[in-house]
Amino acid sequence: MEEELLRLKAEAVAALAASGKDELEPFRVKYLGRKGLFTSVMRQLGQASAEDRPRLGKLANDIRQELELTFAARLEELGGGNVGGSGPRLDLTLPGRTEPCGRPHPVTQVMEEVCGIFEGLGFTVAEGPDVETDFYNFEALNIPPHHPARDMHDTFYVSDSLLLRTHTSPMQIRAMTEQQPPLRMIAPGKVYRCDSDITHTPMFHQVEGFLVDRKVSFADLKGVLSVFIAKMFHSDTAIRFRPSFFPFTEPSAEVDIGCVICGGKGCRVCKQTGWLEILGAGMIDPAVFAKVGYDSEQYSGFAFGLGIERIAMLKYGITDIRLYYENDLRFLSQF
Ligand SMILES: [Zn+2]
Repeated sequence: MEEELLRLKAEAVAALAASGKDELEPFRVKYLGRKGLFTSVMRQLGQASAEDRPRLGKLANDIRQELELTFAARLEELGGGNVGGSGPRLDLTLPGRTEPCGRPHPVTQVMEEVCGIFEGLGFTVAEGPDVETDFYNFEALNIPPHHPARDMHDTFYVSDSLLLRTHTSPMQIRAMTEQQPPLRMIAPGKVYRCDSDITHTPMFHQVEGFLVDRKVSFADLKGVLSVFIAKMFHSDTAIRFRPSFFPFTEPSAEVDIGCVICGGKGCRVCKQTGWLEILGAGMIDPAVFAKVGYDSEQYSGFAFGLGIERIAMLKYGITDIRLYYENDLRFLSQF
C-alpha cells in the first residue's frame, strides 16, 4: 500500500504540473474527489496490519494534504480560483447555510387563526384605539358611573374621562354609531386591567365579535360559536352554555368547552370539573341599541368576547400566562 501511495503521489504531481486551467477540475475529481483514486487507496487501510496502520494512515494523510496544497497553488497560478484569483477557493458544492428565522409570537398566531375562522364566516375585522373614553368603554355599554360591574374591570385611568380600554367591546359602539345594520364584525386587540398573577397580565388580547340584523336569535349565536369552537379545537369538542350576567347583553351566557387536556375526565387545569370556560356571550341588550340609535323592535344581535392568551394556553397546554411576555426564545421558538 505504501508503494501504491507513493506511486499515486508521483503520478498526481506530474499530472498537475502538466494540466491546464480546464483540466484542474477533472484532476480534482479523479485524485482528490470523494470517489477519487486517493480515497479508494485509503479504503485499503483497513486491510493493513494493526502495527502498520498508524504509519500508513499518517503517510496517506500527509500526501493528501500536500497534494491539496499543490493543487491550490496550481489553481492560483492558473487564475482559476476565486474571482480575482486570490483568497479561499469557492466551493459551490457546499450545502447552503440557513439563517435563523423568526416567527410570529404564539399570541399573534392564535389571534390570526381566530380572525381567520370568523372571516371565513363573513365577519369583517375592525380595530380601534387602546385609549378609550369612558363613554365607549362603559357608559354606552350599559355600565353607568357607580355601576358595580366597573369594579370587576380594574381600570387604568388616564384622566377622569380617558382610560386604557378594559375590553374590546367599545368597538361595538364605535361600529354601531357609524354604520347601520346589518353588521357582522370582529375586533381583535389589546386590553388592559390592573391585575397580575399566573392567569392574568396587565395587558392581554381579546377578540370581540358581534352581529346585528333583523331576526337574529340566540340560536344564531350558538351556531356561530359552535362552528368556531369546532374549527379552533376539534370537531367533536363538547360545548356548554351557562347562564351569566353582563351589563351589555341580555340574556348572557358563559361558554365552556369539554376539557381539552383530560377529555372531560377531570384534571388540574379544569379543576376536576371536566369543563373549561373560554368565552362570554349574549344577545345585545336593548339599552345598548338605544345608546347608538338602533330600533330594538326591528333589530336584534349577539356579541361575544374571548381572551386570546387563554385560548392559546389551552391549545398549547401552557400553564403560566406570564411566559408569553418574558421574551424567552427557548419558550417562543417552540411555536
Ligand atoms: Zn381537565
